[in-house]
Amino acid sequence: MAKFIFVTGGVTSSLGKGILAASLAKLLQSRGLRVTIQKFDPYINIDPGTMNPYEHGECYVTEDGAETDLDLGHYERFLGVYTSQANNVTTGKIYQEVINRERRGDYLGKTVQVIPHITDEIKRRMLLLGNSDQYDVILTEIGGTVGDIESLPFIEAIRQLKWQLPKEDYLVIHLTLVPYLASAKELKTKPTQHSVKEMQSYGVNPHIIVCRAEISLGTERKRKIAEFCNVDYDSVIEMLDAESIYDVPLHLQKEKLDDIVLGKLGYRDMPEPELTEWNSFLQRHKYPKKEITIGVIGKYIELKDAYISIYESFVHAAAQHECKVNIERIHSETINKNNVKEVLGQLDGIFVAPGFGQRGIDGKIYAIQYARENNVPFFGVCLGMQMAVIEFAKNVLNLPQANSTEMQQNTPYPVIDMMQEQKTIVNMGGTMRLGAYACELKENTLAHQIYGETKISERHRHRYEFNNKYLQDFEAHGMIASGFNPDSQLVEIVEIPSHKFFIGVQFHPEYKSTILKPHPLFCGFVKACLG
Ligand code: GLN
Repeated sequence: MAKFIFVTGGVTSSLGKGILAASLAKLLQSRGLRVTIQKFDPYINIDPGTMNPYEHGECYVTEDGAETDLDLGHYERFLGVYTSQANNVTTGKIYQEVINRERRGDYLGKTVQVIPHITDEIKRRMLLLGNSDQYDVILTEIGGTVGDIESLPFIEAIRQLKWQLPKEDYLVIHLTLVPYLASAKELKTKPTQHSVKEMQSYGVNPHIIVCRAEISLGTERKRKIAEFCNVDYDSVIEMLDAESIYDVPLHLQKEKLDDIVLGKLGYRDMPEPELTEWNSFLQRHKYPKKEITIGVIGKYIELKDAYISIYESFVHAAAQHECKVNIERIHSETINKNNVKEVLGQLDGIFVAPGFGQRGIDGKIYAIQYARENNVPFFGVCLGMQMAVIEFAKNVLNLPQANSTEMQQNTPYPVIDMMQEQKTIVNMGGTMRLGAYACELKENTLAHQIYGETKISERHRHRYEFNNKYLQDFEAHGMIASGFNPDSQLVEIVEIPSHKFFIGVQFHPEYKSTILKPHPLFCGFVKACLG
């Protein structure tokens, strides 16, 4: 049976619970343990797939097609271990399961209540991944902030698990904020004390308190927090603002978080951390030798979390090439025919982001036309690929009214069309083409050269596809399909061989790029932008 670590957050949101969980997991992994992380989110949506990025940031997609919280992306990028449907649980999923059981008659004769029925289901889901014998340690991050009404059942489940799990298999870590008051020139511990008191009022006493702070806490303040919050002296850990999220594991290691956790979980004589590759990544990341600027064109540009996996993939690829990639975030709605050269003229490469719906489409098409006509490296993902297809149809095939049926149902030239199996679907939630699908690459194409193999697998999240009726026409005019799904013949990749670097992919490579395995497409694109 695995051991369980629960990570809760207090005082405010956005303290970096996901990064804390991923960093601790990384440290434990570096000491020889098999680790995974799961996230419990308090909202009632079954998953974030139906929320827009303004609500929830990016929707991350797993191999098995779960639409999940973006923190799962951090988990995979840090650990290099796949997550799955089981790694993201929401209040919606818990209630759906309990209500389905109630309708089946599983609780016949009983009143179904938050305690014990909802909390029992939460506990079952919390322990689920532990049954597989795949992991030594399972970290569970609880979304939201302690004190929120909606996360109470999760906290109650954690309280109950204390009585169910052996002492050395159970650990609670609470992340709080220790704010610096400029006027008083002092760090303040009171919010932390209150937040821990709140936890204690629910019957949970955290074992370790991690304090997010702008400046070091110092021994005295740590002792004060320990005494007021009832934890061991060595169990108050500071997590200072870091230059890069990838520094955080090393910072926490300096604070001996891994040793303390291992000690409390009853591990003895564990190997020293093996972080050679991680450190080598950090070296390349921090001391780049060259610098380029890539424009990322999308419609959720103002929100960094909306394309977080894409931005991170550029960080990985940049480190691979020992260069710095400056990202210029460009709102597609601001690009028009007249300013396109002015807006994009200085860029070393143009990336067009995924997306849904009509807003900002024209700007994307102008940007792609600019990249194609001026031989500027271009990389489009999902909607970015679809827009490249539409641009080519409009301006090269001379079909000015070409479109996707997503944007215009009755377009005379549906070069992008809804997939056949999508046409009968009524429910919006979880019904796109989701998760990993195989793709076969044509030999002697850019895609083949980039991947160095002909059979690949990538993750998807879309309803529309390249319309194969037009394929011959496209290829005759210089845009070829270089990757196909072997079962359905759906086009997965398009490219323009006469161009320096022009590639569009129907799948989402950004979901599979990790620190230690940067994605070949991002690496290839960055290399092309380096010139
Ligand atoms: N809206 C497009 C589709 O559904 C593209 C989706 C995406 O970019 N993820 O096919």
